[in-house]
Amino acid sequence: MPDVRNCKRCGKIYNYIGGPPICPICKEQDEADFKRVKDYLYKNPGVTLSEVSTVLGISVERIKMYLKEGRLEIINDEGNMILECESCGKAIKTGRLCNDCATGLSREFKSTASKLNDKVSQAEADAKRAIAMRYLNKDAK
Ligand SMILES: [Zn+2]
Ligand SMILES: [Zn+2]
Repeated sequence: MPDVRNCKRCGKIYNYIGGPPICPICKEQDEADFKRVKDYLYKNPGVTLSEVSTVLGISVERIKMYLKEGRLEIINDEGNMILECESCGKAIKTGRLCNDCATGLSREFKSTASKLNDKVSQAEADAKRAIAMRYLNKDAK
């Protein structure tokens, strides 16, 4: 039986087949955008999050998503605060958990909806800070 859902990004109805809850068209767009970010970071290592967002016209939230997915990494200061460990809140450079929490298996995730909303509204403030990033070359599957 087909699992029909609304695309989280464009709202269209599509057959869900796993992975992120977005339709194939948005997924394709997402991959294309990621490739542009990747190429840009490759040619301009150490550029800031806001610069990438402005130059490529890709939202800060989207770029943060790539960071959370562990596809990009922040290369400057430890106290960047743009990404936090979802378990203990410590500043991290990529992914969703700090090394400590990632190795501690049976920890509970604190992921309340209100906390997520706070983060969304913080996106613009984050963008103004000089967060430098680089492409994390580990998707060679
Ligand atoms: Zn879509
Ligand atoms: Zn942690």
